[in-house]
Amino acid sequence: MIRLEQLHKSYTVGSKTVPALADINLAIEPGEIFGIIGHSGAGKSTLVRCINLLERPTGGRVIVGETDLTTLTAKELQQERRKIGMIFQHFNLLSSATVQDNIAFPLRLAKRPKEEVDRRVSELIQLVGLEEHRTKFPAQLSGGQKQRVGIARALAADPKVLLCDEATSALDPQTTASILALLRDINRRFGLTIVLITHEMQVIRAVCDRLAVIESGQIVETGRVLDVFLKPQHPTTREFIEQVEDSAELREVLKHEKAAGTRNIVRITFIGEKTYEPVLYESMREADVSFAILQGTISRMKDTPYGQLVVELNGTTEQVEEAIRLLLARGVEVERL
Ligand code: ADP
Repeated sequence: MIRLEQLHKSYTVGSKTVPALADINLAIEPGEIFGIIGHSGAGKSTLVRCINLLERPTGGRVIVGETDLTTLTAKELQQERRKIGMIFQHFNLLSSATVQDNIAFPLRLAKRPKEEVDRRVSELIQLVGLEEHRTKFPAQLSGGQKQRVGIARALAADPKVLLCDEATSALDPQTTASILALLRDINRRFGLTIVLITHEMQVIRAVCDRLAVIESGQIVETGRVLDVFLKPQHPTTREFIEQVEDSAELREVLKHEKAAGTRNIVRITFIGEKTYEPVLYESMREADVSFAILQGTISRMKDTPYGQLVVELNGTTEQVEEAIRLLLARGVEVERL
């Protein structure tokens, strides 16, 4: 759906050149929710704004659908941009227009007939759950409601792609969850491809199928969210994952256990339905190993349940090896800590 090829972007500030993106290559599939995570200044905003050419890349290609946007005339680009909706951290609503007029804005700009505009606006207001607020002004709305207007407006022209520039960063956790649920719903119902940038791993874990980690204008890791979470490769990725895992607590446990001379500590990861099966108990019983659970979490990545347990195994070296072999044979991941 979206292909970025050898994308480069630098800004010119006075006589200086500030590099922002270097050799970005990325393919985003139709219908997926793709997350881009990075620290402040990493280049996320520049990257997402290059996808609809709000920022013109210094080099490389931006292909959306079948079209290389970098080769289009201004008029052609304007046409193609209708297929790409965008929402923003600070909503960017027209403060002097009502909810319904904000949503109608892109349709009126595209000179759609009045009846069509009215019908579409009503559909969208219902979709985002703002029926009771249609004649209010942005100042009369909460942050979450404003972002719902932003989403409805972005969807007005029936785009194929929705770009989200830190769309939940100004919202509290509960409102963030409801906006993310709305994005997932839209993604499922309309098969919309969503690209979202964020500095929060919780956001990625809640909705994304795949992600890219960006640092100093370069992509340092990409993969399925599940794989990256369970086996992060790059130190920056690990750092982001620590935002959502209670790693500090785990480090404390490990320090304590190491001091006590305990040697056989493993992290066991269950994915999917295995999360709810008695895999650990059965493997330990067969290997005749006793165990103590030091830490445990059960959570979800998008729709997939997963569990992680940090377990101390007690037995002879052979028994412990056998226990690990049995766990692996039952399809769970085991990592020695
Ligand atoms: P992020 O969204 O990850 O915070 P940005 O894409 O905003 O990162 O910025 C990437 C780099 O580009 C930073 O070094 C930033 O200072 C620089 N930058 C961004 N926008 C501009 C601009 N309009 N002019 C000059 N430098 C910019």
